[in-house]
Amino acid sequence: MGFFGCHLSSSGGNLKMVETALSIGANTFAFFTRNPRGSRARPEDPQDAAAAYSLMKESGFGPLVAHGSYTMNLCTKDPESRAFAAEILEQDLRRMAALPGNYYNFHPGSHVGQGVETGIQQIVDALRSALAPKYPVTVLLETMAGKGSEIGGVFSQLRAILDGVDSDALGVCLDTCHVWDGGYDIVHDLDGVLTEFDRIIGLKRLKAIHLNDSKNEKHSRKDRHACLGEGLLGLETFRKIVRHPQLQGIPMILETPNELPGYQREISVLRMLEAE
Ligand code: FE
Ligand code: FE
Ligand code: ZN
Repeated sequence: MGFFGCHLSSSGGNLKMVETALSIGANTFAFFTRNPRGSRARPEDPQDAAAAYSLMKESGFGPLVAHGSYTMNLCTKDPESRAFAAEILEQDLRRMAALPGNYYNFHPGSHVGQGVETGIQQIVDALRSALAPKYPVTVLLETMAGKGSEIGGVFSQLRAILDGVDSDALGVCLDTCHVWDGGYDIVHDLDGVLTEFDRIIGLKRLKAIHLNDSKNEKHSRKDRHACLGEGLLGLETFRKIVRHPQLQGIPMILETPNELPGYQREISVLRMLEAE
């Protein structure tokens, strides 16, 4: 049985998220480590984390996939803002130690005109220092749509970051909407894209998947998520993904435009596709 979940609000704490996940048939979930459009984080609560952790284990959850704030740009131009982003990353990884063995995914960053090479170097520098204390968390670079000056819209850029950081604590989260919008044809050639991923990044680095349909054409570089089956990817693509032998055991997170009932419905659709 696959690990399926969705983004949940963290405002009620960790245990509340596990309970909510259970109530909608999920066995993993994602949450923002702080306000997604800002930098404020909830106060830490070790008791709540311990209770959440034991309920997760008891219920056979797969790894969680926390998400860094959208505003955290490790390769922004202004050195002070860049240092602040790196500080946020370090704090987030330290906080993830309360839920050991899970994943922390983030958007590599936007180079805002500094150039891809400079951007990648700045991301590498921030990751090297944030990963130095060796927290019990695997950090995931998300595949991006390549909107604006986003880094991570092509697999080779993620490879350059992996090479620069050179750490086993680093993996990749594949977002289905983003790779499609970035030009990878997972609709007609999922196997080909996975082969390309394996050749450039290595499938052993693939730790999580974001399941989103896309409102736009392949290579549109737009990044607009649609509900499963309501975009250009279509349910057949998700059927292939959840049943793919090379993708078993990987937590798959919905980031579709839904509230809880919609997520619950999509999770049951995924379970049906998986069992067909
Ligand atoms: Fe994301
Ligand atoms: Fe995503
Ligand atoms: Zn997106």
